[in-house]
Amino acid sequence: MMNFFYISLTALSFSWFLTAKPNMIVIMCDDLGYADVGFNGCKDIPTPNIDSIAENGVRCSNGYVAYPVCGPSRAGFITGRYPQRFGFERNPQYKPNDPGMGLTRDEKTIPELIKPAGYHSGIIGKWHLGAHFPTSHPMKRGFDEFYGHLGGGHSYLPEKLTIQRSQDAKNESDSYRTWLLKNYQSVPPRKYLTDDFSDEAVAFIERNRDWSFFLFVSYNAPYTPLEATNKYLKRFPEIKDAKRKTYAAMVSAVDDGVGRMLSELKKFNLEENTIIAFLSDNGGPSGKNASNNEPLRGNKGDVWEGGFRVPFAIQWKGKLPKGSVYKNPVSSLDLAGTIVALAGVAIPEEKPLDGVNLIPYLNGKNKSKPHETIYLRQFDRNRYAVRNGNEKIVILWKGGSPSLYDLSNDIAEENDLAKERPDRVREIDELRKKWNRQLREPTFLGLIHSPGWPKRRRK
Ligand code: CA
Repeated sequence: MMNFFYISLTALSFSWFLTAKPNMIVIMCDDLGYADVGFNGCKDIPTPNIDSIAENGVRCSNGYVAYPVCGPSRAGFITGRYPQRFGFERNPQYKPNDPGMGLTRDEKTIPELIKPAGYHSGIIGKWHLGAHFPTSHPMKRGFDEFYGHLGGGHSYLPEKLTIQRSQDAKNESDSYRTWLLKNYQSVPPRKYLTDDFSDEAVAFIERNRDWSFFLFVSYNAPYTPLEATNKYLKRFPEIKDAKRKTYAAMVSAVDDGVGRMLSELKKFNLEENTIIAFLSDNGGPSGKNASNNEPLRGNKGDVWEGGFRVPFAIQWKGKLPKGSVYKNPVSSLDLAGTIVALAGVAIPEEKPLDGVNLIPYLNGKNKSKPHETIYLRQFDRNRYAVRNGNEKIVILWKGGSPSLYDLSNDIAEENDLAKERPDRVREIDELRKKWNRQLREPTFLGLIHSPGWPKRRRK
């Protein structure tokens, strides 16, 4: 009797232990401009559902990602560590036979880190961290479920997806036309890709509502190709520019999906137990997809703010103040730091996270800054950006002297103050050199590299 009582109690507390851990949903857009959501002032594309995350939570006006293009930014987010530390500094080529072309197994992903705390993890949408099934498939990297595509982008229209097996795509552009993967299985496309991913996200929430989950909703929208259905296009009769119109339609489709996820969480009474983060993986490439990063300088791929400062908002009902704005710099790396802290799992000592738990900062309990310094290096271009406090140095070529901008009154980085503040330039450049010594060279060739680029490849 005693034994039975003890076992029941243990089982009870064990299940409480599991359900008490908060869920996390990260909704990441691809190449969405800083100014292309209502909460950052967008006027021509209504995004009421995305905005509701900021209205019911915190808008982070100084939210950064770890790199201004997709692959490395995502490698940073999923590990909570600067991708330059482990050589993921280029967009990987689509190589289903190359285990080295993706996220190294020496690094742990969020799902791998929080699995010991009982989390069930899913990814829906774009992966872009390696196409080698046996080592790089999301389910080989800690995810329990996958629905999406392995490459860096995808066509949105079912009739364009003519390559059945992902393994048969020979290069990046082929990979845009594969069927989708449901776990390891190739499945025929069902509908407009963004709607398809939203359906899956809603189903994931319903299926996993009784235990702690981590869900990465990795929309490839509004990344090129610019493709949208009439349902969304006809919402924008007043936009005359064809590119901007299609882009707006694509963003609107994402917004609908976000609304459906939020309703699902409400329906199952999960809002108080679920952290929802929304962000873009890098700045908008204005010329390519008609995105808008104003008032920031630069675009996707740049070390200017427009390259890696992104729309960023976090909601956690009852835990984070409603409708507040947080102005200290935060990083996409902090999403790993946050969920890992809430899950209560240990981090390997030799691989500390660069991300921190944001909750005490966002709820005002910790008045200091989550990060004194935000770093960026682009190895192939010899470019750097280092922000310390409100001042930021920018280096644009090898041996180039840094320029300095004060973001507190010059968000558009127009006034180079390097000559007026030489001490600060020196200080911040010292921080840069110190950080740079901790990094390694890229371990694989990028999309832009031809096979005859052997010099910088280490393995
Ligand atoms: Ca991107």
